[in-house]
Parts: sequence; C-alpha cells; structure tokens
Amino acid sequence: MMEDDQAVPGEDDAVEPEMNVLNSVLDMCGDSFIAVDGNRIKASTQQFDDTRLMALLCRHDIALYIANMRTAGKKQFYAFALITALFKELPEWWTMGILYDIACQIHQSLLKWNFMPEWHSHIIFGVLVFHAYGHQWMCQLWYHPRKSKIWGLSDGEGCERFWSELRRLIPSLRVTGYHQ
Ligand SMILES: [Zn+2]
Repeated sequence: MMEDDQAVPGEDDAVEPEMNVLNSVLDMCGDSFIAVDGNRIKASTQQFDDTRLMALLCRHDIALYIANMRTAGKKQFYAFALITALFKELPEWWTMGILYDIACQIHQSLLKWNFMPEWHSHIIFGVLVFHAYGHQWMCQLWYHPRKSKIWGLSDGEGCERFWSELRRLIPSLRVTGYHQ
C-alpha cells in the first residue's frame, strides 16, 4: 500500500472512549470501503426489491442466518439485524468474536451512537484476514485476526467460501425472489 493512502494523525485527532483507533484512521477505512462497495453495486433498487444477500456464518462456515438486502449499498443495519438474531439464541454471558469486512466501522457505530449497549462487553470485533489489507495500517494493528490469539487460525472468510459453493445457482436465480 502506498504511504499516501495512510492516515496522518492531526493535533486535534482523537480516540473515542472504548475505541483503540484514531477517528481519522476509521474515517479513511470508511471512505475506502464506500468507494469499493460503490463499484460493486450491480442490481438496481428501481428494478428489484431485493438486491443482494448478507449471511452470518459460524466458525465452521455453516450459514446461521441470511438476510435479504433491499438497498443498493451494504448498510450497517443488516449486520446489526444478523447479530441481533444470533444474540437471541445464545446465553447472555457469552462473548462473541465477530469477523466482518468492515468491523472497525460497525464497532465505531456501536459506541458512537450507543447502539445495543448490552452488546458492548460481549463482542470482540476483527476484520477478515484478506480484507484487512484494505484497511489502514493502524486499524490492522487492532483488528487484524493475526494480531490476537483469541482468533486462533480463523480467517473470517467463510462467506466467500459460502458464496463460491452457491455459484452454480447463479444462472437460474439471478432474477428471482422469495415470492416466486
Ligand atoms: Zn478499518
């Protein structure tokens, strides 16, 4: 990655309470994600009610929940909905490790807007091992799964393997819906 792509902390830069990464770093991670995701938008919301799917998989790559997405972009509320569904099925005292391609962004949102305060002490976030390289270096120091032993050798890329397994269905299901 070029040095120019890296955030440079300013004098008034800050780390929000309970976060470990500078706001400027998180902003740059967010900007790069928006740019990439914008190029991925292939289905128009004017033509389709459901544009994509988002899946939540366990450590063994088994799909636990799948949500229909109804917006062109990947909004954070889909991830929150999936995590909410999972939390309902787990004991309250469990701590969950969640690997997600923009984990740094949803971690920031949870704390900044005080979403789901009951989650805060029960979730540890990490960024998927291959997606991590699209994040700022300072973000990787905290969220890269190889930087903490809690992840073992989990890479978080189960969704990529899951979509790959389903690729044979693409031709027949490209334009379809749950109501058909
Ligand atoms: Zn990041």
